[in-house]
Amino acid sequence: MIKLKNVSKFYYSKGVIASGFSKVSLDFKIGEFVAITGESGSGKSTLLNVISGLDSYEEGEMYVKGQETSHYIESDWEDYRRKYIGNIYQNFNLITSYTVYQNIELVLILNGLTQKEAKPKILELLKKVNLEKFKNTKVSKLSGGQKQRVSIARALAKDVPIIIADEPTGNLDKRSAESIIKLLSEIAKDRLVIIVTHNYDQVEEYVTRKITMHDGKVLEDKVLKKVEEQNIIENNYKNIRFFNELKLGIRNTFNVFPKFILLFTVYAFIVVALMGEYSAFRKEEYQNSKYGSNYVFQDTSDNKIIIKKSDKSEILDSDFEKISKLKNIDYIAKNDLLTEEYKNIVTEGYTLTVGGYVKSILQFKGKVDIGRLPESDNEIVVMGQKDDYYLANRYDTLLNSEYYIDDYYGLPQEDKTKIKIVGIKYYEEGVYKDYELYFSEKLVQEIGNNINRRDSKIKVNFMGTNYDSVTYQSNFRVTPNKNVPSGQAYISENYNYYCEKSNCLNKDITVNVKNIYFQDAIALKITKTYNRKNIEKVLNINKITDDEFKENYDGSIFINSDDYYSLFNKGPYQAGIYVKDVQQIDKTVADLKNLGFETYPIKDVIIESGSMQALRIIKIIVTIIFIITLFFITYFIIKLILKSRNIYFSTIRMLGASKKVARHLLIIELFIIANLAFAAFVIIAQLNRINILNIDFIDTVNTYFHLNDYILMYIILIVMSLLISEKYAAKLFKTSVMAAYREEV
Ligand code: ADP
Ligand code: MG
Repeated sequence: MIKLKNVSKFYYSKGVIASGFSKVSLDFKIGEFVAITGESGSGKSTLLNVISGLDSYEEGEMYVKGQETSHYIESDWEDYRRKYIGNIYQNFNLITSYTVYQNIELVLILNGLTQKEAKPKILELLKKVNLEKFKNTKVSKLSGGQKQRVSIARALAKDVPIIIADEPTGNLDKRSAESIIKLLSEIAKDRLVIIVTHNYDQVEEYVTRKITMHDGKVLEDKVLKKVEEQNIIENNYKNIRFFNELKLGIRNTFNVFPKFILLFTVYAFIVVALMGEYSAFRKEEYQNSKYGSNYVFQDTSDNKIIIKKSDKSEILDSDFEKISKLKNIDYIAKNDLLTEEYKNIVTEGYTLTVGGYVKSILQFKGKVDIGRLPESDNEIVVMGQKDDYYLANRYDTLLNSEYYIDDYYGLPQEDKTKIKIVGIKYYEEGVYKDYELYFSEKLVQEIGNNINRRDSKIKVNFMGTNYDSVTYQSNFRVTPNKNVPSGQAYISENYNYYCEKSNCLNKDITVNVKNIYFQDAIALKITKTYNRKNIEKVLNINKITDDEFKENYDGSIFINSDDYYSLFNKGPYQAGIYVKDVQQIDKTVADLKNLGFETYPIKDVIIESGSMQALRIIKIIVTIIFIITLFFITYFIIKLILKSRNIYFSTIRMLGASKKVARHLLIIELFIIANLAFAAFVIIAQLNRINILNIDFIDTVNTYFHLNDYILMYIILIVMSLLISEKYAAKLFKTSVMAAYREEV
């Protein structure tokens, strides 16, 4: 069955070569019960380890069923051990945290049996070694003799032809020793049993052959009883089933409770450190984003989304209705252009001017510091710095003056809306911003229309020619007048020159309006002409001077006020949506897209300054270094904790687990613990969210973490666990089983 031909084993340690045994030639048959004796250090254990495939040999050749083994690689030895070898050790090498039953079950599971298939086998074996009563006892509680019976049962659990026992009775009292030897002799009937013993007398009456070793050499090889070569019972092992691997992994996770708590604590530490660092990073990112700027938009509130309809059409009240029903909407600036608008309000004659960004009173929060909140559409609130001269000292004047919006150039005074400042509110200390003027929704709309007017190109088509209508010159300037009937236009009599027979009456004139959002036109009939003399009467206005006539009136096209304003009272086409919770803004953007809008979240169009970008890169590098450092710290801590597990892993490998299986078991264990730690963190975070717990740092996590961030953290954690397992496994399993085992025992 096994044949050694001039086999030698050397040990290399610290540059010194020691001989384990040399030039040993032996032949073993199934059915033999071989005792190896010899003084300590003579090479007995080394020989057994080589025969067991646990250790390598350097010289000669070992044959298994006539096949050479010198070319074997680790996986071949794994295969060999699983097929042929059962080991019994002096110090038992049982898994002390497992019960008797579990120790035997382990071998069977590692050999691909289901737990159900294993059960009858285990019970039978326990009967054979007379341990039925101790089935569920932890191995650590057994006596030496009992432990050795468990090892024998375990060695027999897989049907292997060779049982190798290194001083199996070395730690036992005389009586236990005797029963163990007897048990082994029974086993030897259809197997090859090789035992090493110091006490040859004890085994003499049972063994069939005696080998004496001395100084690494075979001194004597004596056959005491002739045996017939028996048929080989080969262990047709399978690979461990996935579910059993998982079950074993879970068993190992919780089996030694202090170790579990220790590993869990380490992982909890990693999770907290990772989350803490990353949430701090996120917080900073977020705060930096608020300090960015944009060349187009003045209002860089990060909670703002600018929208347009996908078809570029006017946004209707029904659209706003739908938007207002979405979650997380704080305020809708129906005309977004206004939020970018800096407006002056002026007293008549421009003696007082107050300028500020246009806001809706609906956006106003809190109370005013001076005066009161508006009660009518024409009342406004001003917000500015407390140390501003006017707001602090001259507010009486501000509150008691009559203002107009300084935007109506070219419009008649009576078309301008009178407004009053009724309240003043100061910014918080340390906030330095321009004034903000809070108008009623009606005024906001009026300002919006006015912007449409300001931003439109107005052309007058008269007698086949287009003329630009601009506010800074009176020629062809289209001007509203209440006295002109709808659908009609009054023009200067000078224009008669362009018409046949110098008569423009009843001729057509068209006013075209065009801007980036819309275009419109109105066709009018010329029904009157005016001159210096009749202008006051024709337009029903107060007396004007000759200069005023020349500068502001002559050449203008007067049309009906309602006709005029209807050309511009349109839109809005671009609105600003402010959300309540910026962290949820992406959801709102998606909702708005679903409603058919194009969206421009302000936070996405903010430009960071160069120094901020540099800072950010440094931050990212620091975070990455932090994570790498964390990885190594954890690796070393986990390595220390797992040191106690090395025996376990060496043992299961001696039992026939492949490197791969051992590595899987380790990975499963760390994976479970990592997940538990992560889950614990998520639960605590949720408790914090609903205020059952109140931990500051977790509040930060709750505020700045999205699902994405959790997923990222989870991936980092799992990858870290995998890397740790891999690194650890690579180190632990790089050597032959014995070498790994020796390092640890
Ligand atoms: P025995 O089991 O007969 O007492 P061993 O097989 O344990 O003897 O040892 C045989 C020889 O190999 C001894 O000289 C011993 O010092 C040496 N040896 C055993 N293990 C190692 C090792 N790991 N490193 C170096 N030398 C070793
Ligand atoms: Mg020994």
